[in-house]
Amino acid sequence: MGIEVGVDRDMKDHSQVALLGLDRAELAELVADLGEPAYRAQQLLEGVYRQRVESIEQVSTLPQQLRAKLSEKGISVGLPKVEKQFVSVDGTVRYLIGFADGQSVETVWMPEGDGGDVGEGSGDAEAGDPQGKLATRGWGRATICVSSQVGCAVDCQFCLTALLGVKRNLTAGEIAGQVLAVLNDQKVSPQHDRINLVFMGMGEPFLNYDNFIKAVRLLVEEVGLAESRMTVSTAGIVPRIADFGQEAIRPRLAISLNASNDELRTQLMPLNKKWNLERLMAAAREFPLRNRERVTFEYVLLHNVNDLRENAEEVVELLRGVKARVNLIALNPGPGIDYETPADENVEAFQKTLRDAGILTFVRRPRGRDIYAACGQLKRTVEIATAPAPSVP
Ligand code: SAH
Repeated sequence: MGIEVGVDRDMKDHSQVALLGLDRAELAELVADLGEPAYRAQQLLEGVYRQRVESIEQVSTLPQQLRAKLSEKGISVGLPKVEKQFVSVDGTVRYLIGFADGQSVETVWMPEGDGGDVGEGSGDAEAGDPQGKLATRGWGRATICVSSQVGCAVDCQFCLTALLGVKRNLTAGEIAGQVLAVLNDQKVSPQHDRINLVFMGMGEPFLNYDNFIKAVRLLVEEVGLAESRMTVSTAGIVPRIADFGQEAIRPRLAISLNASNDELRTQLMPLNKKWNLERLMAAAREFPLRNRERVTFEYVLLHNVNDLRENAEEVVELLRGVKARVNLIALNPGPGIDYETPADENVEAFQKTLRDAGILTFVRRPRGRDIYAACGQLKRTVEIATAPAPSVP
């Protein structure tokens, strides 16, 4: 299965093998290679994914001699590190999370959810909170926004992450590890707290498909997060939408629509040349939905560019035959972005046109704009003071 452990590894630099990212079968193989009894794999799984240990030393079920043996072989947990955090006036926290090779991404913690990314149901009052923790903490639920790549290759003209280009894919362990690091920092656990995940951070998850899906499986099967509380957003990698529909374990699907016709969409999102609206909407119509599920469409409103009445009317036509839900997002501005935030009246009128046509439509509240944590603002800004962020409305 390709996990190389021990002295005969190709790499002579004793580079580390991370446990985080290995699934049940891979851990079983590793344990067998070390000549250890099979139940050690279960202990490692529980330590890494349930207990969320930072070092093997903390896996108290393992004998000391085995912990030492793992370290000698260059095997470590591989939990990414919180390098910096920025706290917004609205409670949102933007984490800068660093990996072993010095690369970093951003992960965002949004107490009380994200204002509507996760599909219907997530806003319902939760019955039963046996620990009484949610009430005493002062938040009802929270959403973690997870990155899938360092930077992004898609080049959407309104998004700050695009300015970074793509540096590399994240591994499954790095994707899942962001969640574990944030849960640890916030001292919460999916067993006691209501945690939603949105794969809407830096990068295009469907251009790192295998690692993304593996991370989802680990988060569901080992960490214990609910797939029904997860949403992945794609800029529209059409062939992967079909693959995603076939997954036994999968989050809900969101598609970044952002324009109402091909000319406009190609201008805003150059990938539309490759997968145009006809192909994208066909993939959405064919997507196998579960009971009560819908496809979410995100639509970033840009002042006088795609926020006019005729745009809303075109969106209504595009969505015919799709069990859809629309999240409207007013542009979050930033340096280097040539578009403006839409007027409130345009946002309201756009929403009304869609609602009058019977489309479930929400306006998403921006979260953490003051600390560059909102949609489209993730570009590892560390100099908040010298890069004045727009004020929170
Ligand atoms: N690459 C994936 C995952 C990122 S999701 C995707 O594109 O879907 C990030 C969401 O934020 C997308 O829906 C995108 O359209 C939106 N977005 C990007 N830049 C934005 C900005 N400046 N203001 C508001 N939303 C933005």
